[in-house]
Amino acid sequence: MEARNYILDRCRKIPYVYRMKTTLETDKNEFDADDLNLITLAREYSDEDKAIALFESMRWPGGKPICPHCKFDEAYKLTSKPDTKNKIRKGVYCCAACRKTFTAKVGTVMESSHIPVSTWLMALFLICSSKKSISAHQLHRMLNITYKSAWFLAHRIRYAFSDDGVKLKGTIEADETFVGGEGDAKTKFSRKIPVMVLLERGGKAKTRVVSSVSQKNLGAALAECVDKSATINTDEHPGYKQPLRVMNA
Ligand SMILES: [Zn+2]
Repeated sequence: MEARNYILDRCRKIPYVYRMKTTLETDKNEFDADDLNLITLAREYSDEDKAIALFESMRWPGGKPICPHCKFDEAYKLTSKPDTKNKIRKGVYCCAACRKTFTAKVGTVMESSHIPVSTWLMALFLICSSKKSISAHQLHRMLNITYKSAWFLAHRIRYAFSDDGVKLKGTIEADETFVGGEGDAKTKFSRKIPVMVLLERGGKAKTRVVSSVSQKNLGAALAECVDKSATINTDEHPGYKQPLRVMNA
């Protein structure tokens, strides 16, 4: 599979998967990382229509489907007539400009896969939330899918996680987030893992797990992931002061 700008590509998935914020009609409340557990995922999004709606809201945060062929932002949803034999697949749109059809899956790790979106979300959750790697055999048993499907899923998700080693260029947004953290209120925060997210304008992203959000750690991650020519935008976090001075020197 060629390297492309998958939306669930590289490490960008982590914030995506952990921050499934949605305003679905069925779920008006914001979906917070801390609320996202296996029970919620299984209960709310085992329904394929809801899973597709959730994925679309992640794929097109503006709310409008964007044509992957010509980038036009107006498209019609295709639905099949009730008595037709040739049923249209779920979530198919037709672009108003180029007339080509597409789904939210085009250009993502899910592209041209017949595995339901709900299963993909579940697999992503399981893989992202487990400390040890999950084998295709485990996925096959846990998700009740064939071994072949499980192998395909695991392979694609792992591919998306891999890092091509090319440094980010241009305008970069840098931010830190904390993921995980099971347990009671007392121990919750100490169990969270700081993750640095670097997002290149245009889509490419990298993340680095850091032991703490210190100048030393953030600086090392920046030096590893970002080209010297890049412009870095950060929040007011003091941890960036020194590293940015070094980068701009
Ligand atoms: Zn189009």
